Amino acid sequence: MSRLATTSNETQQRFNPFAMAQAQLDAAAEVLQLEPSIHALLREPLREMQVSLPVRMDDGSMRIFKGFRVQYNDARGPTKGGLRFHPDETIDLVRALAAWMTWKCAVVDLPLGGAKGGIVCNPRELSPGELERLSRAYVRQVGRILGAEVDVPAPDMYTNAQVMAWMLDEFSVLQGHNEFGMITGKPLALGGSKVREEATARGGMYCLREAARVLGLKTEGTAMAIQGFGNAGQHAALLGQELLGVVVVAVSDSRGGIYAPEGLDPRKVIAHKRTAGSVIGFPGAQSISNEDLLRLDVDILVPAALENTINAHNAPEVKARISAELANGPTTPEADEILHAKGVYVIPDFLCNAGGVTVSYFEMVQNAYSYYWDDKTVKARLDAKMTAAFHEVHELATRLGVHNRLAAYCVAVQRVAEAVRLRGWA
Ligand code: NAD
Repeated sequence: MSRLATTSNETQQRFNPFAMAQAQLDAAAEVLQLEPSIHALLREPLREMQVSLPVRMDDGSMRIFKGFRVQYNDARGPTKGGLRFHPDETIDLVRALAAWMTWKCAVVDLPLGGAKGGIVCNPRELSPGELERLSRAYVRQVGRILGAEVDVPAPDMYTNAQVMAWMLDEFSVLQGHNEFGMITGKPLALGGSKVREEATARGGMYCLREAARVLGLKTEGTAMAIQGFGNAGQHAALLGQELLGVVVVAVSDSRGGIYAPEGLDPRKVIAHKRTAGSVIGFPGAQSISNEDLLRLDVDILVPAALENTINAHNAPEVKARISAELANGPTTPEADEILHAKGVYVIPDFLCNAGGVTVSYFEMVQNAYSYYWDDKTVKARLDAKMTAAFHEVHELATRLGVHNRLAAYCVAVQRVAEAVRLRGWA
């Protein structure tokens, strides 16, 4: 009996990212005293599409993949959001990520709404030809609701510039002309922007620099641990070292982590991962689990892997002074309260990782003008956007006496609510 009760309790408490995104919005709505009709509108996506994608496999068989696109809210402009290839993709996860994109674009004050897409697949099991056919199949189905003025995808978990190039090409074939601004994160040769590849981590490092300033911490020589060593995590390691002088002592990927208290050379770890397929086995480093990495005695923790990694169980053991969230949704609402009470300074996901969408927006602007900016211009404009957004959130959090995530929600939701109100939607 008691075992059954526990099981059902566990089932009820199974992590639902969309329920978490709604709970976060509810908290902001309460602080802002949002009108009930606007609150109700912002709790749900405006539009969503679920598709079946028939793909010819290399062995001649046909396989049907499931795909999603959620356009959460376009009150402030065309919707914008990444596209993920992941075996555990669910519609609720895509809804949550689309909601977070809405708040992300608003917190950095971009004239864009939020969206997200996903395909349920394991990209590691697909050949390059199968990946290309899958990418093109997605555009054949979802392309009818995409476009530079409508909804603009970008790379995310396990998608990259090559996938964007195939999608751009398929869309151009369907339209009969090029429309470069319909997708971002493209290769430079196809209208991509300088700095896009490292933009998420770079924006996060600008936030981290500002956080250290307001907390009176020195970043030079400070220990940093990074969970997740993909695009976001690898660039965070390189740029953390280059821009802030931090010492990267631990990194991890889906197979586990490595730890070297005296510091790791990010370039060598990246080279090792490229050949070995994982950070595991890096010469001279100790092995640690992903869970232990979160508990390391470091000043800066960078969750850069998946959602729901810092939760009520492990939050009490986090020792970092700053958590710079490059991943989307890495901290649950319960963990947020615990970290806030412990004095851990969290730079919330949709602020900290907004550098990617900011440079994506710059890419759309450059595509619209067919005029491309140099490296220095993109970096300076990104720095200005991230620094302004960081201080707006920090100052509101200080004034209201709330944690940074709630303050970031208040800044973002206020902006979206104003657009909704002016349009007469609520
Ligand atoms: P990626 O696919 O390049 O890398 C993901 C990394 O996480 C890989 O190293 C993988 O091995 C690791 N990983 C997977 N499961 C793990 C686990 N259980 N524990 C530890 N590590 C694990 O993806 P990315 O683009 O770096 O994205 C990482 C996170 O950052 C995601 O939450 C994504 O939504 C977010 N993000 C990325 C961007 C971007 O521009 N790349 C922008 C905004 C947010």
